[in-house]
Amino acid sequence: MSLVENTLRAHLPTLKTTSNGWLTMNCPMCVQNGHRPDSKRRGGLKFEQDRIGYHCFNCGYTTGWRPGQKLGIKLIKLMRVLGVDEGEIQRLKIQLWDQVVVDDDWLGIGGTNI
Ligand SMILES: [Zn+2]
Repeated sequence: MSLVENTLRAHLPTLKTTSNGWLTMNCPMCVQNGHRPDSKRRGGLKFEQDRIGYHCFNCGYTTGWRPGQKLGIKLIKLMRVLGVDEGEIQRLKIQLWDQVVVDDDWLGIGGTNI
């Protein structure tokens, strides 16, 4: 399990797993995105091997992470609303920095918008 997954799982509410592998929850980002609070568990998280994906079927918030990537701002925002504290996020960023695959970012677009 990756450090990112560990951190997320430590702060997640109890989640249901759907048959296609999504862990569903009321999306914490809907209100910030100008939508009504989600009460139908339309936010979905997926952990697959070491990759992480998040998608809300209500407000459309999408983010994720895979090994070799930096922590994206949208994933950081999601972590914040899940209650991950700032110190923990900073530590995670630093730990991930050592593992960043620099090549991935040679065009300056890799991972910058997720
Ligand atoms: Zn949402």
